[in-house]
Amino acid sequence: MFKALIVNKDDSGYSTKLQELEDDSLPAGDVTVKVQYSTINYKDALAITGKGSVVRKFPMVPGIDFAGIVEHSDNPNYVPGDLVLLNGWGVGETHWGGLAGRARVNGNWLIPIPAGITPEQAMAIGTAGYTAMLCVIALERNRIIPKSGPILVTGANGGVGSFAIALLNRLGYEVVASTGRPQESTYLKSLGASEIIDRAELSSPGNALAKERWAGVIDSVGSHTLVNACASTKYGGVVAACGLAQGMDFPATVAPFILRGVTLVGIDSVMRPREQRVKAWSRLAQLVDPQQLEQITRKVSLAEVVRLSNQLLAGEIRGRIVVEL
Ligand code: NDP
Repeated sequence: MFKALIVNKDDSGYSTKLQELEDDSLPAGDVTVKVQYSTINYKDALAITGKGSVVRKFPMVPGIDFAGIVEHSDNPNYVPGDLVLLNGWGVGETHWGGLAGRARVNGNWLIPIPAGITPEQAMAIGTAGYTAMLCVIALERNRIIPKSGPILVTGANGGVGSFAIALLNRLGYEVVASTGRPQESTYLKSLGASEIIDRAELSSPGNALAKERWAGVIDSVGSHTLVNACASTKYGGVVAACGLAQGMDFPATVAPFILRGVTLVGIDSVMRPREQRVKAWSRLAQLVDPQQLEQITRKVSLAEVVRLSNQLLAGEIRGRIVVEL
């Protein structure tokens, strides 16, 4: 038996409850993992509260991330006792996910936890940190280096935003953080932001081109914020777009792309090929500061996940939540 959060949708509506399940209720897969830690991402909060159509199959165990120990494996790459982690691949959406004591998955979706980090730290990083790393790698691949100029990070107090600031700072970039919570400026500066701007500066319709301010952008907000971020990017700059916290729309003009040669790079973490995941996680293991990780993380139990998901969607959570199974 193991505990799991179960999302259901039937005639009585959408519900998320904590339940005890039998091991034989687990879905098909060649590796069974004793989940030690999971986390709550924005997407998980949507799945848990039913505020977004993330879950495609019911009943579903939510949780797009987990870390734990292999219990049983028919996959040649894993043996019992291996420490593994998983991000994405539709887990928590179409295949039972990480907010449960056990998970059974396709072993090809797993990656070994890189040397130097624990399962708990892996989940403190989670999809948020892994996505922030993919965004940083996208800037690097497009030749944005610390000397190119400041980097704008939007949604600064969120999971992706917090990691983006810390990683960029560690690599020597100057970071401008855009936030709706200026009261958290001390926290953002402790992560490595050198300038804080009010997100209201970017969140309403603006001009097709604006003053050139940053060499690069990591945007987890979308909508007008992404449009204005592009319009204020310096000639030849790069914008990595990964999120939609403000909205999925992109009411832009082509001006920044055709007049300033700005590059807009789309970042998807869910279906990212394994080789790129392994590289991103190995960079994270080198770059993440364990003390800072502890500072931005709080540990909770499975019973607290529904309440915290509502708070996360209301923009009341700072940094990362680790769920201990
Ligand atoms: P969080 O909820 O932790 O952070 C989102 C942040 O966005 C908030 O903390 C807030 O920052 C800001 N924000 C919230 N609402 C608004 C608004 N209406 N207008 C402007 N800013 C707003 O989420 P995550 O960091 O986990 O994820 C961020 C986004 O990235 C989500 O849309 C998520 O779906 C997406 N994502 C995409 C991935 C991919 O593979 N492409 C992977 C992971 C996440 P502040 O208070 O500082 O303003």
